[in-house]
Amino acid sequence: MAASTSSFVATEFAADDPRFHDLLLFNAQMEVLFEGCRWLEGPVWIGDQNRLLVSDIPNDRILAWDEENGLSVFRHRAGYPNGQTRDRQGRLLTCSHGHRALLRTEHSGRVVRLVDSFEGEPLNTPNDVVVKRDGTIWFSDPLYGLVNDFEGGRRSSRQPARVYRFDPRDGSLRAMTQPAQVVGPNGLAFSPDERLLYVVETGAPEDPDPERRILAFDLEEGGLSLGEPRLFHTISPGFADGLRVDEQGNVWSSAGDGVHCIAPDGHRLGRLRTPQRVANLCFGGDNCNRLFICGWSAMYAIHLNTRGVRHPAMP
Ligand code: MG
Repeated sequence: MAASTSSFVATEFAADDPRFHDLLLFNAQMEVLFEGCRWLEGPVWIGDQNRLLVSDIPNDRILAWDEENGLSVFRHRAGYPNGQTRDRQGRLLTCSHGHRALLRTEHSGRVVRLVDSFEGEPLNTPNDVVVKRDGTIWFSDPLYGLVNDFEGGRRSSRQPARVYRFDPRDGSLRAMTQPAQVVGPNGLAFSPDERLLYVVETGAPEDPDPERRILAFDLEEGGLSLGEPRLFHTISPGFADGLRVDEQGNVWSSAGDGVHCIAPDGHRLGRLRTPQRVANLCFGGDNCNRLFICGWSAMYAIHLNTRGVRHPAMP
């Protein structure tokens, strides 16, 4: 068996609330799994393959990492991939800036465009994606991948930024937010009971001083509509991008100095510090208790004393 190739950095945490200590393991350390990327995003744990997939957006590739073999390239020319998850059948879903589409990798390996337009106009650049237990696929579609040549290529927008709900059972696509509610929808996560959808607002790309915050929406009409958003939390330092929820309903959010953990009541419980700012994260490992953290150019991981909400594809 090959030894793990990871190294360690000093594990720094800062508790704002004593409850934070209950979520940590005193003898777990922050590992550096690999380095040398340009901008890591879209981490997704593939339990049945015992590996992590993660997007490296400007390098237009999806990377694969596993404990035994380390790092490899899963897909070149991946369509400037961003957020990723799996559907209820375990198929990989990838937000693609390059294709302005939500992509699905079939079990055969063939990649199909699942969604690439709304009301006859192309999407902007799907950014992050989450699957509800009923199999519906929710994704954000801000303009960020259209405004420069670093993450997909400069092009014009034909839609306002929105969050969408795609139902693969009947192919229907519904706009779930309006521009008056959120102008730069980014990371998404459901509360464990799926009564709430957290949406990260990172602002309009042309806004020099955007109001960046995490919003909470109530699901209404059995998940066919959302109520008015309310402020859940404002990350500082830095801002939130991707986020995940643990089994107790705590929100683990990307931040300028690492990962912040926020209780369901919106109060910050504590912070895990990383050497680089963080764009996204996911839970994984056999027990879903290992947090994989996308630093800007390096991948970190740490075991926690809590578990991520089990993905619907992994009962
Ligand atoms: Mg994002």
